Amino acid sequence: MRVDEFDLEQREKAPIAPSPGKCIYCYEILPPEELTDEHVIPYALAADTLIFEKSCCTVCQKEITRYEQNVLRHQLGAFRAQVDAPTRKKKDRIREVVIHFIEVDDEANKIRDLGERTIPIERAPLIINLWQSPPARILEETVSRPDQPWTYFVESEVNALNKQVREETGANHVAMSLGNVNKVKYQRFLAKTAHAFVSAKIGPDAFEPFLTDIILNRSDDVGLYVGDMPGVHEFAENPENTLQMSMGRLTTGPAAGSIAVYFQLYPSIKSPAHVIIVGKPLVDLDLVFPEA
Ligand SMILES: [Zn+2]
Repeated sequence: MRVDEFDLEQREKAPIAPSPGKCIYCYEILPPEELTDEHVIPYALAADTLIFEKSCCTVCQKEITRYEQNVLRHQLGAFRAQVDAPTRKKKDRIREVVIHFIEVDDEANKIRDLGERTIPIERAPLIINLWQSPPARILEETVSRPDQPWTYFVESEVNALNKQVREETGANHVAMSLGNVNKVKYQRFLAKTAHAFVSAKIGPDAFEPFLTDIILNRSDDVGLYVGDMPGVHEFAENPENTLQMSMGRLTTGPAAGSIAVYFQLYPSIKSPAHVIIVGKPLVDLDLVFPEA
C-alpha cells in the first residue's frame, strides 16, 4: 500500500478532486446546485486538507451528520481542541470537559461515586478515545484482538487530577471515566471516510462499493468491512499529530483484489491501525496505483 500522510496541523489546501456530477454515496446524478462539497477528512480534523468538490447530496449529508458530528464532538472533540484543531465556528470550540470520578478499593472495585468535575480544556489531561477491534470479518484473519475502547492519555496529567480529587474528597484511590466511545458510530465514520477517500482518488464509478449501506445507516454490520490490522504500518520517524491514510489492493486472502484503506490517527502514540475494505475495483487499478 502506498501511504498518504496528512499533517492535521498543516491546514494546507491539498489538491481538490473535481465534482463527479453525482453523489458518491447514493450515486444519484444531480445538478451542481444540489450537491455539496465533501470534506473527505472532516473539517474539524483537518480543515480543508482534502475536499471532493460537489460530491454529496443533502439527503446523504443528513444521514452522515447523524454519526459524524457525534464522533467529532464527543469522542475526538476534546482531544482535537487540546491540540488546537480547526473549528468552523469559534463558538463551537470545546472549552471544557466533564470528567466523572469514582472512589475505588485496592482491587479497583467501585466504592462510591465522587461525581463529575468540569475542567477547563487547557487544564484537562490529554486524552484520546478511539476504538480497537479485530480485523474486518471479510478478511477471515486469525489475529485475535479485543473489541473495546482504546484510550491514550498522558499519565502524569491524569495522576495530577486524581490527586486533586483525592485531596478534595478524602478518597484513598480515585479513578476517572475517560469518556465513552460509540463503536458503531466511530466505525461508520471510518467507513465513510475510507469510501470518500477512494471515490476522490479513483472516481465513484471505478469500484463496486461495499460500504454504502453502512454509511447511510441502512446496515449495522460494520465489522464485516471495518476493523484493525495491527502492525500494518510502522513509521517510527513520523511527527506527532498526523493522520496516515492510504489506499491499496489486497493481494491475498478471501477478499483478494478488493480495495482497502488504511487509516491511523496519530501513529506516534501507537493508536489502532484501522483497515477498511471499501469495494471491488471495476477498472484496472495497476493504471491508478501501479505499486499497490
Ligand atoms: Zn446521496
